[in-house]
Amino acid sequence: MMQAYVASSSVHVHAQSLRGERAWLCGTRVQGARGGAYARRGAVAALTMTATAPVSQQQYALRFLDAETALQVQQKVGTPCYVYDMKSLRAQAEAMLKFPNAFGLTVRYAMKAAPNVAVLQLFKKMGLHIDASSGYEIRRALNAGFEPHKIYMSTQELPADFKEFLDMGVGINACSLSQLERIGKACPGARVGLRFNPGRGSGGTGKTNVGGPDSSFGIWHELIPHVQQIVEKYGLNVEKIHTHIGSGSDPVVWQEVSNASLGIAAQFPSATILNLGGGYKVARTPTEKGTDIQQCGEPVKQAFEKFASDHGRQLKLEVEPGTFLVANCCSLVCTAQDVVSTGASGHEFIKLDAGMTEVLRPSLYGAVHPVVVVPRGRTESESQKYVVVGHCCESGDLITCAPGEPETLMAVSLPKTVIGDAVVVEGVGAYCAGMSTKNYNSFPEAAEVMLDLSGKIHVVRNRQPAEQIWQNEKALDDALLS
Ligand SMILES: *Cc1c(COP(=O)(O)O)cnc(C)c1O
Repeated sequence: MMQAYVASSSVHVHAQSLRGERAWLCGTRVQGARGGAYARRGAVAALTMTATAPVSQQQYALRFLDAETALQVQQKVGTPCYVYDMKSLRAQAEAMLKFPNAFGLTVRYAMKAAPNVAVLQLFKKMGLHIDASSGYEIRRALNAGFEPHKIYMSTQELPADFKEFLDMGVGINACSLSQLERIGKACPGARVGLRFNPGRGSGGTGKTNVGGPDSSFGIWHELIPHVQQIVEKYGLNVEKIHTHIGSGSDPVVWQEVSNASLGIAAQFPSATILNLGGGYKVARTPTEKGTDIQQCGEPVKQAFEKFASDHGRQLKLEVEPGTFLVANCCSLVCTAQDVVSTGASGHEFIKLDAGMTEVLRPSLYGAVHPVVVVPRGRTESESQKYVVVGHCCESGDLITCAPGEPETLMAVSLPKTVIGDAVVVEGVGAYCAGMSTKNYNSFPEAAEVMLDLSGKIHVVRNRQPAEQIWQNEKALDDALLS
């Protein structure tokens, strides 16, 4: 059920003085031993840390929250709590819907980035379609109200019930020769998309690059003759060619791959749609560089026009962003539940009541997420360097890591923090709530709320009740244990 309440001014805090400029971060990089055991429990002390000179003096402010709202979320919903911002979500979708195109555009939301029903509903209302990455995501999108024909799946694991999806009108990109064969066998004459690995990839990190010979995603481009054989054998109708080369791709590589994809489309005369995937970068910090959609899309539009004059076929463009649509539209409100020190040669640590259970990206990719402290019930003029860590029993549960280095602590300058202060982790819209180390240490899934256009908060996911963590477990018969 939806709950709503109006932002109240009863929070005992000098909200005015806390807004934006009171919250900042400067980075000091701290080098640790590389290549050590990543998940060595309690091994912080074993990583020999030596502070080096500051590498950045970056100031961060709250992105769309204000101090008052952050504290209100903390008090009324509890922490940790993801806060989605309807206004930013809409703005991102509107920007994507203006993607340059020659002969029509479909924007698919890659829902794995943030699959909450409220986000899906909002994008549905704005006319977006869905890119699903599993059969379960299809079911989730259907449950959110998407019509089957607006859902297309590209998956590493073809679900056993795929025929049911095809029969109801969901589209499937065959992502391997065996997937194509299975689709052909089950549904001769079906319409299909073909996901190709164009031979090149590009991602923000090795873990998010999904093109090139080191990536198992999509049908290797040299296998086109095999694909054509299978297509012919089952009379399949290839309506779409698809490529997706990575998350956080280099726009230049993305454009080159777009041209290669047109080359593939030329070999499938029945194709009317070319889907160029997602991967459009956003800047979570001021030093990161986001993709300019207009600039990135314009040459591709021209290439579609040239293709039309060369081949007499007007291809419709599809793009399927995840990150771009949601990354900066959600913040995680946490509480500093402890502040500890490891002495003069060590660090001051802020321990959150959240961690890799909510924001895995630092531990997984070395991703940098801005951290903003909102002092509760006081103004704070002093600052201090802190390493911000999560609540899991893993030294790798680190929120402030050095860029690209999941194992390297980074001390950041924050307002002097005491237990109970709110701590906001920014830029957590994509691949956080949906990609967590769920229930590790038996912590429940966090609550999620949507901030509407008038500043009201609506709960869109309740905090998981403890019993749900173990509800599917079955105790052994006592007799078995004796
Ligand atoms: C994950 C994914 C996307 C979205 O990637 P972003 O980097 O989040 O934009 C698009 N298409 C496919 C097939 C994907 O797997």
